[in-house]
Amino acid sequence: MGAEIDVQVRAQAPLVPDTAAQRALQTLGARLARVSDRPELPYRFALLDLPQANAFAVPGGFVYVTRGLIQRTATVDELAAALAHEIAHVAARHGVERLERELRTGLVVQGLYRLFFGGEPDWLAHRALEIGAALWTARHSRQDEQEADRLALAYLARAGFDPRALARLLRRLAADGDEPAAVEAWFATHPLTRDRLAAIDAALAQRSPQPTAPPPDAAAAYATLRRRLAAQAAAR
Ligand SMILES: [Zn+2]
Repeated sequence: MGAEIDVQVRAQAPLVPDTAAQRALQTLGARLARVSDRPELPYRFALLDLPQANAFAVPGGFVYVTRGLIQRTATVDELAAALAHEIAHVAARHGVERLERELRTGLVVQGLYRLFFGGEPDWLAHRALEIGAALWTARHSRQDEQEADRLALAYLARAGFDPRALARLLRRLAADGDEPAAVEAWFATHPLTRDRLAAIDAALAQRSPQPTAPPPDAAAAYATLRRRLAAQAAAR
């Protein structure tokens, strides 16, 4: 099921046309996927050429991240936190039943597509219904969000990242008063409630001290991503 959706997303969504950047994202994601609860899945990570901050996943281990999200991260740990959260939704099989039901009934919600991609590019208006199934992550329940956060903290620690980056990233996005519309999509699909942040803070308080430096290969991958995206932006 996920593989079919991935084919549709890749065919229709605007991927960042830069293999070095795509490879760097895959390197980072794979480091986290290896320590997830379903390491056997063939996780694939794709970098979407969209200015909004967003990330989503479909069953089977397909994870999509926008350049807008990467550009709003301050550290590799923060990007790792977003990836870990998406991997956790996959590993915990969140939303799979709902997606299967929607595929069976042909019920897909075009409006949700706009939450993800902001509704701007032309390509989406025509193809929204076809790839609407990819929206299985839309509006995860509070329980799913909290479980994904809890798992993400564990994956971050296991993979050598600082779990505190998850709280930092969410607070930064929530406080992004300059561009509320640009981060709205992220919170529409991963609702941020006071409970959610409190649960993250409580879990962090119980953790032992964290590493001070990220894994070198991950830091290098992040530097590559930032550099390639900056070059792409300069060339526009
Ligand atoms: Zn989520």
